[in-house]
Amino acid sequence: MARYVRDFSEGNKDQKDLLGGKGANLAEMTRLGLPVPPGFIITTEACRAYMANGELPPELRVEVTMAVRRLEDSLGRSLGDFHDPLLVSVRSGAKFSMPGMMETVLNIGLNDASVLGLAKFSDDERFAWDSYRRLIQMFGKTVLDIDGDRFAHALDAMKTDRGVAADTELSASDLQELVTQFKAIVREQSGRDFPQHPREQLDLAITAVFNSWNTDRARLYRRRERIPHDLGTAVNVVTMVFGNLGPTSGTGVCFTRDPSTGRTGDYGDYLPNAQGEDVVAGIRNTLTLADFEQLDPTSYAELRQAMRRLETHYRDLCDIEFTVERGKLWMLQTRVGKRTAGAAFRIATQLVDEHLITLDEALDRVTGAQLSKLMFPQFDSEAERTLLATGMSASPGAAVGQAVFDSATAQEWAAQGKDVILVRRETNPDDLGGMIAAVGVLTSRGGKTSHAAVVARGMGTTCVVGADALVVDSVARTMTVGTRVVHEGEVIAIDGSSGEIFLGSVPVVPSPVVDYLEEGLEAALAHLPQEDGETAELVSAVDRILTHADSVRRLHVHANADTAPDARRARTWGAQGIGLCRTEHMFLGERRVLIERLILATQDAERQAALDALLPLQRADFTDILEQMDGLPCTIRLIDPPLHEFLPDLTELSVKVALAAEQAEREGLPDDDDAAAERARDVALLAAVRRMHESNPMLGLRGVRLGLVVPGLFALQIRAIAEAAAQRVQDGADPRPEIMVPLVASVMELHLVRDEAERILAEVARAQDVALHIPIGAMIELPRAALTADRIAGAAEFFSFGTNDLTQTTWGFSRDDVESAFFPEYTERGVLNVSPFETIDTNGVGRLVRIAVEEGRSARPDLTIGVCGEHGGDPESVHFFDAVGLDYVSCSPFRVPIARLEAGRAAVAAGASDSR
Ligand code: PEP
Ligand code: MG
Repeated sequence: MARYVRDFSEGNKDQKDLLGGKGANLAEMTRLGLPVPPGFIITTEACRAYMANGELPPELRVEVTMAVRRLEDSLGRSLGDFHDPLLVSVRSGAKFSMPGMMETVLNIGLNDASVLGLAKFSDDERFAWDSYRRLIQMFGKTVLDIDGDRFAHALDAMKTDRGVAADTELSASDLQELVTQFKAIVREQSGRDFPQHPREQLDLAITAVFNSWNTDRARLYRRRERIPHDLGTAVNVVTMVFGNLGPTSGTGVCFTRDPSTGRTGDYGDYLPNAQGEDVVAGIRNTLTLADFEQLDPTSYAELRQAMRRLETHYRDLCDIEFTVERGKLWMLQTRVGKRTAGAAFRIATQLVDEHLITLDEALDRVTGAQLSKLMFPQFDSEAERTLLATGMSASPGAAVGQAVFDSATAQEWAAQGKDVILVRRETNPDDLGGMIAAVGVLTSRGGKTSHAAVVARGMGTTCVVGADALVVDSVARTMTVGTRVVHEGEVIAIDGSSGEIFLGSVPVVPSPVVDYLEEGLEAALAHLPQEDGETAELVSAVDRILTHADSVRRLHVHANADTAPDARRARTWGAQGIGLCRTEHMFLGERRVLIERLILATQDAERQAALDALLPLQRADFTDILEQMDGLPCTIRLIDPPLHEFLPDLTELSVKVALAAEQAEREGLPDDDDAAAERARDVALLAAVRRMHESNPMLGLRGVRLGLVVPGLFALQIRAIAEAAAQRVQDGADPRPEIMVPLVASVMELHLVRDEAERILAEVARAQDVALHIPIGAMIELPRAALTADRIAGAAEFFSFGTNDLTQTTWGFSRDDVESAFFPEYTERGVLNVSPFETIDTNGVGRLVRIAVEEGRSARPDLTIGVCGEHGGDPESVHFFDAVGLDYVSCSPFRVPIARLEAGRAAVAAGASDSR
């Protein structure tokens, strides 16, 4: 078989890698006996050979000659013929559709001689000259790289000269003259004559399509869509059929169901007497398919039959391009059509009801990304809006509120019932209160795993980060974009799905899918207006597919939740436990001073007083969460971040102390006792802050290291967990806390914590007279932990991969800094396809995960293993975690339904590959 060329009759729809999407589907339609104009496909392999060697492979020339001859023989016409010429189009067609990215040249085969043949055959001189001028124009632009405006200007000048408004009003001789002008433009701009030989036109057009694979815009598109650069494109050479041969001709696009809503019934546009792009270009108003039926019932009936045939064959929504040439229908393209998120769910369940696909297949046809689109309120896209800037989408949703520039104001204004958007350069744990109070969070720095992004996502608060066009001045309480200054109190709107920031308010539409997740199907349906059958169908479809996902998935889904309300929501949304309860937030606010005292204590009594004050507070935190998660595992992580995060800012405190010293020098020491005590406290605090100051806190005194160094801190938390659990047991409940130790690098660290923990647990159990089994496990978030997993498993009853830190430490990337600093450049230059903080880097970080799973389980076969980094809620990563055999993924409550869906899809995909 030929290597680089396939006739349409030789391929099928499953050969998209080799034939590209368009080619594979043209071949499939040919096989089905649908009326496809004959043609052939130059494979992606030829494109890859061209890219590697910089020239067309010699065999390709030979194979093209053979394919053209076969085509000519089958039609009894030949390229460039003087009497009845064969004309072809040359169309790009990569494996994945890249709309508008690549080139097409129509009417190849026309030259000074064959244009006369076309005029004769078509009996339409005007049409022939119009086709020829279109060829020169398209060829000049895409193949010879001539500025398209030159042709457009010449065309406009001709229209002005003839006093007409539309191209269609130009006569045959006008167009003939235009051809002469266009040829002159080609000569002048490219230094060569427009090629008269059809074969030369064909070869140059093929090369141009190959070259269009590597244009800047095509590369950019592929980066965004995560399409590899090395696939190459196929080229389809197709016999021309004409929709612009008078009123009995025309061209159209149609769908077998509505791709925007998912409504059943066909749907499409038809434009009589028009060619290809005219329909999409919107030059005239199109007709509906119903109008088309009136106009040409025979072609319409044939089209309907083809649509049904294709939908039955592909068992999915098909999108079709067709042309009618003098009453004869031709199918120019089909593919499984793109659709909106809502349409995807509705169509999948419709097809199940029509017994065209199974529920497994329906699950495979929707994605977590689509589900998440359905979950967030969205701005009404019809509304008028003023775009201010665009940042990174960090947490979806649509928020409108008054801009505020610090956490305290956010809380104060929110308490007055105002909707506020907290705008910061970047956020830190101190901003938490403001973030909770705000309806949205906007930062000018940081990436998708910055503090703002992670926390906002965890809370389900709309968030846009890294909008670097904004200059945020928290002192002046303004943000500036160019010359526009936005003052505190001005209303802004942020779209967490697109990253857009608008000035003023934009109306939003709420999500019925969230209502369903919160209240259940029956209640959600009852809340809908009677006449809104489409939304009811959508909500029922989501329920059906999600329920099916739950029934087939192997992975459990837990949630990252630190508060009782979050735990409650997570459970409502389907979480089967808490995979990560971060405890550091519990030490902020009023409790921060207690932590300060703990750190500053020089004597046991002082330390003990601070611990005694913290214990009941911490115990109450855990009691509330255990209550919400009764009967389900609840993994509580001991305190993790560097201690200095709980202390005042070094610079601010230094300034305060220096000013006080200066004042004392000027005015003498204060005689007021309180002032003196405050000064002494500040001096001691400053010394502690200095002592604790680290240049690289993320790699410093944090996690288990902190627990081992600060006496009593972990013990306090462990005791609070044990006492909370004991109390719940006594109350007849079923608490299932687990203690998780962060940032473990060596098994010895874990042994030390475990020894202390076991002692405290036994003590509490004895004192309260209850049996307590509280598993103790390790977070695997350092390469060393992964590489010594067999040893660590010796002291751990479970592992949980902290893939945020594991990514940070495997790549040596500071997660708070790199995303905005150089990821854009890295993505641009192809080092990264996607941020490894968003989707797990399977080759590097994933390899460590695999090693740790294998070694951990070999040392302890009943080891429970989960993941609680951000990747736990990322669709692609969920598939990876399923494949490596984790027991659960844990993610923010809002991503729980997404993880449930994706875990189901992963199980279906794994089942399908097992049975292959
Ligand atoms: C992690 O590192 O993946 C993790 C969950 O911990 P944190 O993000 O709190 O450091
Ligand atoms: Mg971590």
